[in-house]
Amino acid sequence: MGNENQELHIIFFPFLANGHIIPCVDLARVFSSRGLKVTIVTTHLNVPLISRTIGKAKINIKTINFPSPEETGLPEGCENSESALAPDKFIKFMKSTLLLRDPLEHVLEHEQPDCLVADMFFPWATDSAAKFNIPRIVFHGLGFFPLCVSACIRQYKPQDKVSSYTEPFVVPNLPGEITLTKMQLPQLPQHDKVFTKLLEESNESEVKSYGVIANSFYELEPVYADHYRNELGRKAWHLGPVSLCNRDTEEKACRGREASIDEHECLKWLQSKEPNSVIYVCFGSMTIFSDPQLKEIAMGLEASEIPFIWVVKKNAKSDDEKLEWLPEGFEERIEGSGKGLIIRGWAPQVMILDHESIGGFVTHCGWNSTLEGVTAGLPMVTWPMYGEQFYNAKFLCDIIKIGVGVGVQTWIGMGGGEPVKKDVIEKAVRRIMVGDEAEEMRNRAKEFGKMARRAVEVGGSSYNDFNNLIEDLRSHKH
Ligand code: UDP
Repeated sequence: MGNENQELHIIFFPFLANGHIIPCVDLARVFSSRGLKVTIVTTHLNVPLISRTIGKAKINIKTINFPSPEETGLPEGCENSESALAPDKFIKFMKSTLLLRDPLEHVLEHEQPDCLVADMFFPWATDSAAKFNIPRIVFHGLGFFPLCVSACIRQYKPQDKVSSYTEPFVVPNLPGEITLTKMQLPQLPQHDKVFTKLLEESNESEVKSYGVIANSFYELEPVYADHYRNELGRKAWHLGPVSLCNRDTEEKACRGREASIDEHECLKWLQSKEPNSVIYVCFGSMTIFSDPQLKEIAMGLEASEIPFIWVVKKNAKSDDEKLEWLPEGFEERIEGSGKGLIIRGWAPQVMILDHESIGGFVTHCGWNSTLEGVTAGLPMVTWPMYGEQFYNAKFLCDIIKIGVGVGVQTWIGMGGGEPVKKDVIEKAVRRIMVGDEAEEMRNRAKEFGKMARRAVEVGGSSYNDFNNLIEDLRSHKH
């Protein structure tokens, strides 16, 4: 297989956001491990993140220039959405990515690959690929359930038929009677035409391209995998969970940004705990909470009496400085006694989730985190905030039944909103960590975890679908 595959050269072009780059590099590693020639195209400042995540895999990186501050109106060095979180910057950032078209096409001209796998946020990449007569595949790193919900909402617009933001509607033509409200749908800023058009075209790009790669495995969501292909008529391959390409501790520790904690220190802390006893709390790569919300989380975790690792994306000015939003004496009580570990900045998430001491996960339900939690066999507390996270939370709680919600009802953008109270957090954490219901959810989750691993092994569903994709690409080439 290996040698035959080598005739195919695939270029990956991830969107410039950590939550998109990381799974895309994982995906590129899956291709590389199956013997294909793989190149990732990115801008200079994103190279370190990508190189770390590539690790020892044989993958080339081609760099292109991000447009200059004069062209974008952004400050120097703003090449990743992480440094463009403020709404006005974010729109400029998204628009700047339109200027990556020429540089990408230069790479395609020079490299002459057989296929371009590009993020949904580069809708124009389909035309770029067509120029060079190669197929463009979309990878937005989602599973079939959120893909199906998004497609049905776009097609049938049930949100236009309700009279308020809070009136529930059933998503039409979707198995499982999924109800949502308008408050839970992605809120598009209407005032900027270029940005709105870009988002609309992004959503359409899965229809116009050669096909879609889903980060999922068939056994997790067979009904929705079939629905997406057969009813919604999309061509798709499921190749996930892609994070499973990180096999040993070193690979897991190096995935993504440089961790804000020494991996050995982190593992030592985990090692000192009982199996399934610790809850891991992390809200993805972009969520920055208000101080009052952070305080409620701190109090809720403490009151739950469950040991925790909590990732806070808000750095103190210096490591020694006390964090003023923490409850009085919190650090001494918690960190001093070994009850909790706060990671300020970036955590080696997959390494932590896979540790046997972890017994549950409080997540914002980004699809990567959702699937990583499933793969680690963990029940989850769902705390969706934006994007398609409300769909993913529904999936965890109502479809595969390994999730418990904290009751947030509305899309809040990147922060703000009424804080979720400490009692609610405490209760949700205890519900997935102790008692019969927790046990039942954990058993179910562990079964999904085993299925995930089987899916990527030789003969598994994702492994086999990879073969199908290669067949397709090979016959397209000839
Ligand atoms: N991640 C991580 N450490 C962190 C935060 C995030 O390793 O401290 C990784 C996480 O494992 C996942 C990705 O970053 O693969 C975040 O993607 P997700 O879809 O969950 O959320 P997003 O950041 O896109 O909102």
